[in-house]
Amino acid sequence: MKKCKKEGKKKKDVEMHRWFATENNKGVGVMEMKKVDHIGIAVKSLEEALPFYTDTLGLSCVGIETVESEQVRVAFLKVGDVKLELLEPLSEHSPIASFIEKRGEGIHHVALGVDDIELRIQELKNNGIRMIHEQPKRGAGGARIAFMHPKSAHGVLYELCERGGGR
Ligand code: ZN
Repeated sequence: MKKCKKEGKKKKDVEMHRWFATENNKGVGVMEMKKVDHIGIAVKSLEEALPFYTDTLGLSCVGIETVESEQVRVAFLKVGDVKLELLEPLSEHSPIASFIEKRGEGIHHVALGVDDIELRIQELKNNGIRMIHEQPKRGAGGARIAFMHPKSAHGVLYELCERGGGR
């Protein structure tokens, strides 16, 4: 009995691997995502949160700016090649304000760095992914960004982020 069970499981594993190998490489034009650009973290106040990141974790703050369209003030901290993006709501109309109200402070989104954001959006749409932004919009640091709908991404809010050279 036991032996049968084990073999059954093994067979299932192999089938699963085969499924991944074929489904993920069947030539639907999906390019590999190559890096995490930053992780967005919602905070109530930059003044209150920043000392934890700079003094306690020893990270350096590489910029603070206001993004009017999103009603947020943003601070970037560098951790190796990845940045942490602290997001403070500027008003109750900010999407970050409603996020904090519903869930409290914490991880808000993961941003994947891409080279050609229009192409990536098209690619995702071709694969049935619902986009919050079908056209890229301007984000912090002059980046062009677009969010995927978390319902299409197993509950994670993913941002696509294209940074032009030198911006
Ligand atoms: Zn972001």
